[in-house]
Amino acid sequence: MPNENRDFSRALERASTWVARYLQDVTNLPVLARVRPGEIRAQLPDAMPEEGEPFDALLDDFERIVLPGITHWNHPRFFAYFAITGSEPGVLGELLSAALNVNAMLWRASPAATEIEEVALGWLRRALGIPERFFGVVYDTASVSGLHALAAARESLDLDIRNRGTSGRDLPALRVYCTEQTHSHVEKDAILLGIGRENVVKVPTDDAFRMDPRALARLIAADRAAGRLPMCVAATIGTTSTTSVDPVPEIARVCQDAGVWLHVDAAYAGPASIVPELRHLMDGIEYADSLVVNPHKWMFVPVDLSVLYTPHEDLLRRAFSLVPAYLETPESDVRNYMDYGVQLGRRFRGLKLWFVLRAYGRRRLIELLRGHVAMAQALAGWVEAEPGFEILAPHPLSVVCFRHVPPHLRDDAAALDAHNAELAERVNATGYAFISTTRLRGVTTLRIAIGNARTTPEDVRQTWELIASTARASLRGDGCTIAER
Ligand SMILES: *Cc1c(COP(=O)(O)O)cnc(C)c1O
Repeated sequence: MPNENRDFSRALERASTWVARYLQDVTNLPVLARVRPGEIRAQLPDAMPEEGEPFDALLDDFERIVLPGITHWNHPRFFAYFAITGSEPGVLGELLSAALNVNAMLWRASPAATEIEEVALGWLRRALGIPERFFGVVYDTASVSGLHALAAARESLDLDIRNRGTSGRDLPALRVYCTEQTHSHVEKDAILLGIGRENVVKVPTDDAFRMDPRALARLIAADRAAGRLPMCVAATIGTTSTTSVDPVPEIARVCQDAGVWLHVDAAYAGPASIVPELRHLMDGIEYADSLVVNPHKWMFVPVDLSVLYTPHEDLLRRAFSLVPAYLETPESDVRNYMDYGVQLGRRFRGLKLWFVLRAYGRRRLIELLRGHVAMAQALAGWVEAEPGFEILAPHPLSVVCFRHVPPHLRDDAAALDAHNAELAERVNATGYAFISTTRLRGVTTLRIAIGNARTTPEDVRQTWELIASTARASLRGDGCTIAER
């Protein structure tokens, strides 16, 4: 077994040289993996080796077998879903955190892990204009941050669900309000919390895909009148499909009047409020009872790192704190992060966040995010100017939703959907760029999300030209834009 220190140092050098080069050269690789289902698995033996193998064999197979099966989220022309960045300081933080391998469940289990997390979350809070009284805690993903927020909202109802549960007792239906644009995790969280999908109420949206606060007020009042118990409104700053921004100040007023918990999901768009001219995104945030921001989405922190901020630290603790004898600890004036969630063990994620905030600095983060928004606005301009294309949603941030409408398909909704889905697949098959699709009011939509730190205006320009030329080629029926490139 190659565990001598000398072997490890050599392997680490090989890996670190590879990583540095990879981050530079990723732009030359196909963005979307080109393997067929099962192709990676078929190259691997059915059982683990009897005797340990040298590190070099592992690294060889990483390059030979694993890499072809990777879709490169670090690629500057990764425009699907939400573009993210495994940044250099973030990679360093992950490396060191892996080496330390601490389990930061209790303060004493690694005081620095708790205190670096507290400090980094304080820096982030101030940079984003979130009030000082909001306590922060790191979870792996927004879906899990949201779950904990909803659990705290449920705890705030004083129904003693923590002890008595939701089954086998007489409880009114607990209701959660969101829109059809809300991220699907809210519904999943409702499933897990015993609320049920039927009690997740979809509030109508306006033409710009934003929650209608008056409809929300009416739905809450109707539920109260029917003996149901409004528990939580989940508003979104930057919805997943279009990045629409729900009117949080108006929604907050409805929540205050009705005494309902306001949860704000700013997983993607939250980081943008570091940009002075985008600070308004956080308007009304001071009324939120919980807020989710994902530095692993649009702040160059490697997956995974999501943050839940809440002014109700005590409620979150009350929902989750449960200390078995083997975890009792003598310190009384420290934070033990295990008290704030369902998981006991936790990684030292704060390190990579702290490294990213320090290595970039506020000024550079502002420049990068501002640049992404500018690139998206330029793209929207080209789409609008191109005959046969149409924009399908407002684009206030770094995502643009549009589609190609060839004249002969204009009146055939199903054919238009199929045409646009195929257009996306043709573009993706080139390996040059990766875009994804969504559906808006049932219509298949091309969607470009800009968010990688290495993306340049030229990357966006070239990708747009690829899309436009692929669309033109499809009209001619020759579909050979891959060869053209
Ligand atoms: C991406 C996204 C999520 C889910 O993020 P994960 O961290 O992958 O769970 C939740 N809400 C919004 C608005 C998102 O854009």
